[in-house]
Amino acid sequence: MKTQIADLYFEPLIPLKDIDKRTIEIANQISADYKGRTPILVGVLNGSFLFTADLIKHIDIPVEVTFTKLASYYGGTSTTRKIRDDFDLSIDIKGRDIILVEDIVDTGNTLHYLIDKLKVREPASITACSLLLKPKALEGIIYELKYVGFEIENDFVVGYGLDYKELGRNLKGIYRKVK
Ligand code: 5GP
Repeated sequence: MKTQIADLYFEPLIPLKDIDKRTIEIANQISADYKGRTPILVGVLNGSFLFTADLIKHIDIPVEVTFTKLASYYGGTSTTRKIRDDFDLSIDIKGRDIILVEDIVDTGNTLHYLIDKLKVREPASITACSLLLKPKALEGIIYELKYVGFEIENDFVVGYGLDYKELGRNLKGIYRKVK
């Protein structure tokens, strides 16, 4: 069923039940990989707030959570390559295991930028987790990107935290722009 957001139409791509199932699998993987440690999940706002919240519910080792803000899209449907830097992380991450949580990786520029910023603060390790990845848009390998929910085509998507003109974040599941 098509749904309208502002001036665009979107159709269902990934149902919520599939996201829930995949989120549990990733949480189990993180729990196993970080056994005996206490990682800090750093959610990248705004898009990852739902995914980060759902992910942490299923992680069964001690874990901390915080958020940072960074955006490169300015409300359009394609990347601007400019990163609006609202980067702010008040906690000390020196010597800690960091897991960055993204909603979507497109070109990968945002994630690269963020990883570089965090590395300066000397964490023990950094990995990244993204609900969605557009492999065909990715400009270079990101070795830290260890956990990916779903690989999708180069479509513009909304829902489950992702927006178009700040709308559509409350859609249950991922929707793609109708061509
Ligand atoms: P990158 O820097 O990897 O090109 O872009 C990453 C950021 O662009 C994401 O965190 C997200 O804010 C935005 N973005 C990329 N693709 C999409 C998309 O299909 N839909 C939405 N709503 N945002 C996207």
